[in-house]
Amino acid sequence: PRKPHPWVYLDGQVVAVADAVVPVTTQAFAYGTGVFEGIRAYVAANGELNVFRLDDHLKRLANSARLLQLENLPLRSEFKSIILDLLRHNEASTDCYIRPLAYKKALLPGIGFGVKLTGVSSGLVINTLSMSAYMRADGIRCAISTWRRIPDVSLPARAKITGSYANSALAMESAQRNGFDDALMLNVHGNLAESTTSNVFVVKDGCLITPPLSAHILEGITRDTIITLAREDLGLKVIERDISFSELFSVDECFLAGTGVEIVPVTQIDHYILQESGVGEISAAIRSLYLKTVRGLNSKYTDWLSPVSN
Ligand code: PMP
Repeated sequence: PRKPHPWVYLDGQVVAVADAVVPVTTQAFAYGTGVFEGIRAYVAANGELNVFRLDDHLKRLANSARLLQLENLPLRSEFKSIILDLLRHNEASTDCYIRPLAYKKALLPGIGFGVKLTGVSSGLVINTLSMSAYMRADGIRCAISTWRRIPDVSLPARAKITGSYANSALAMESAQRNGFDDALMLNVHGNLAESTTSNVFVVKDGCLITPPLSAHILEGITRDTIITLAREDLGLKVIERDISFSELFSVDECFLAGTGVEIVPVTQIDHYILQESGVGEISAAIRSLYLKTVRGLNSKYTDWLSPVSN
C-alpha cells in the first residue's frame, strides 16, 4: 500500500528521489537534531484529494523547529503551497502520506562535529508517498513497554524530534519480538503516556479517557480531532486525566489514534483480553466517524481539509 512519489522537495528545489541525498556529515544524522511531521491526504467522495489539518501540522512543525533552532523554514502560507505544489507535481491521485523534515545540516567551518544548535545551518526535505491504511481494523494486541517514554524535562515529547524515535523504536522492537503489534508506553511517573507512534484513548463506563498533555506525550492532532468529534458529534463525555498502569486492566475499550495508524482498536493489553467479542462499540463508532471526516463526509469540519487541486 506504500509507493514513494518520484519527486522530493530538498532545500528549495524539487528533485528526483535518486538525487535527494544529504551528506554523511549532516548533524541531524549523527545527533537526531531534526523535527518532522506525518500528514495524510485523502481522496474524497467527489474524487478530490484533500490534505487533512495541514495548518495544524505546520503549526506544530514550526513549534518543534523553534525548540531546536531550525531556522529559515518557509512561512505557513508558503509552506502550504510548497506541499500542495509537490503533490500536484507528483500527480498524486490516491491517499497519500506527507513527511516534511527540517534538520540541522552543517556546522560552520572550524567547529567540526560540535554538539550545539547555534551556528549549525538548517535544511528542509519533504517526501510524499501514496499510502493507504496499514493497520488492521479488527483490533491489535499491545504490550506494555518496559521502556518508558522520554520525560519532558529531557526531550519534550511535545516536539516531534527525530532523535526521540529511538525511544519508540526500542519499545516497538521489544513488543514485536514478543509477538505483539505495538507497545503502550508509560511515562516516568508510571502512568500511561502514548504508544510508539500514536496517542491512546480508553473507554470506561461510556466515557472516553485519554492522558493529559502533561503526561509526556505528543500533542496529537488526531487526539484533538477525536476529542472534538466525540464531544460535538457523538455527545460523549471526554476526560483528560492520568491513567495508571493498573487501570489499564479494567478498561472496557482501548484504541490508538494517530495520523499514520488512524484509529486502531486495541483488543488485548499484555495478556489481558479487553473484548471477547472483538472491537468495542464506541471505538468502532469513533473510527467510522473519523474516516468519514477525513474524507470530507462530515460537513461540519470541511475547514480541516486543504484541497490539492486549485
Ligand atoms: N505520539 C507519537 C509518539 C507519534 O509519533 C504520533 C504520530 N505523529 C502521535 C502521537 C499522533 O500524533 P498525530 O495525531 O498528530 O499524528
